[in-house]
Amino acid sequence: MDRPRTPYLVERMQGFGTTIFAEMSALATATGAINLGQGFPDTDGPAELVEAAIAAIRAGDNQYPPGIGIAPLRDAVAEHQERFWGLSFDPDTEVLVTAGATEAIAATLLALLEVGDEVIVFEPYYDSYAASIALAGAQRRCVTLRPPDYSFSVDALRAAVTARTRVVLVNSPHNPTGKVLSRAELEAIAAVCVEHDLIAVTDEVYEHLVYDGCEHVPLATLAGMRDRTVTISSAGKSFSMTGWKTGWVCARPELVSAVRTVKQFLTYVHGAPFQHAAAAGLRLPDAYFEELAVEMASKRDLLAGGLADAGFVVYPQSGTYFVTVDIRPLGETDGLAFCRSLPERCGVVAVPTAVFYDDAEAGAPLVRFMFGKRREVLEEAVVRLKGLTS
Ligand code: PMP
Ligand code: GLN
Repeated sequence: MDRPRTPYLVERMQGFGTTIFAEMSALATATGAINLGQGFPDTDGPAELVEAAIAAIRAGDNQYPPGIGIAPLRDAVAEHQERFWGLSFDPDTEVLVTAGATEAIAATLLALLEVGDEVIVFEPYYDSYAASIALAGAQRRCVTLRPPDYSFSVDALRAAVTARTRVVLVNSPHNPTGKVLSRAELEAIAAVCVEHDLIAVTDEVYEHLVYDGCEHVPLATLAGMRDRTVTISSAGKSFSMTGWKTGWVCARPELVSAVRTVKQFLTYVHGAPFQHAAAAGLRLPDAYFEELAVEMASKRDLLAGGLADAGFVVYPQSGTYFVTVDIRPLGETDGLAFCRSLPERCGVVAVPTAVFYDDAEAGAPLVRFMFGKRREVLEEAVVRLKGLTS
């Protein structure tokens, strides 16, 4: 995408401009359209978390917490990794609390990459990956996930490895496609990491938003991966509190120490009361997580059905709260132009996934809709989208 040069901005950040999420949310606010663009729910998460945050503030937990994160949250993260994925981490040396997954990703990449190193990412990639890689002075090499099932070619993955490759960055469940990588796909990635002695960085923020009987497999659970993986997640998606920005890193002590060295100079620490709240969330019973996924899957069905009725090709998804469509059946080819015109045409905002691709052609006709909204909002959006063709 052509973007004007930004004065004063360092060369390596030129072209990043304003994020597509900010642009599209501003468009939704300006036009009063239904915002199915930026990924945030329109209802609050569990009351237990609200009470825990308020209780922590009232109890005077309002000064700097420890740089590594408060012990109750590190314990809760370790327990959660064991309860859901059978992964064992020492809460004192193998868990680090961060300001959301975003900071965890930035700190990890800044800690592990030398200038000129290469990172393999799967495109479409979450925008902060590209920015953090650029900040580190490293280069990305993309492996393309292709619809309808957003699978990738293992040959393309192998071909992307060079002598400069240091990290493979994996996001599953995947934003923006909603793809949940299968065990076989993850095993192929693991084999490449082991063979070439690469570090895997995994973004698992949608670990609990998985549907249709699919399973989330943390890469760190696969043979040879536990000690070469930096596992990242956060509370935003699992507890529908995206504004609280509480995240964490799990890895072996040497990797956590490296990430922590950088992290302490980015934010030093993350908000104490929210750490208590996230700990309460991670300790919610299994039923909470199961119900969240059932509810989201039914919203997915509602919106995906509406998008199909409106004439889009809707690609299957089984995780996250995003669904992608191909706009070509509507006679459109440019997702960015389409999304910019959509509020005016039908009062709905979506996100063009083209901005998450280096291969512009692969991404051009694809658009992402977010379904983690109240049912009545989705129902209204469906009616409006249908108006596009009638
Ligand atoms: N990774 C992915 C794939 C995301 O979609 C997001 C945004 N929700 C993040 C990371 C950022 O997470 P956080 O808000 O915890 O920083
Ligand atoms: N993760 C959210 C999304 O994909 C957006 C977060 C952000 O605005 N950076 O829509």
